[in-house]
Amino acid sequence: MTDIQEEQRRYALAVSGGYCEACGRPLADGQRQGAHRIGNTKANRKKYGWLVVDHRLNVGYACSLACNGKLDISRDAGACVELCRRIYEYEARKYGRGRR
Ligand SMILES: [Zn+2]
Repeated sequence: MTDIQEEQRRYALAVSGGYCEACGRPLADGQRQGAHRIGNTKANRKKYGWLVVDHRLNVGYACSLACNGKLDISRDAGACVELCRRIYEYEARKYGRGRR
């Protein structure tokens, strides 16, 4: 795991409050894992780019493989576009160009 991936996972754990985003049970009870919302696949990387796929807003936390799957929005084009918008706004703010 790279430093960036490690950082993403810590952030995702912090924002989820230590609970599975899909079923709400404490992550300590399950098999804690980082879950990509837009799946980490070659096709998605080609379509959305690494900026989106590797972005910390694209990684949530799940307690199991089943819940990991529930966080995947790859097949919901509208949800993917919405997430991309949030990621780009998040990035734009770094340069003072976000919405106020
Ligand atoms: Zn769960």
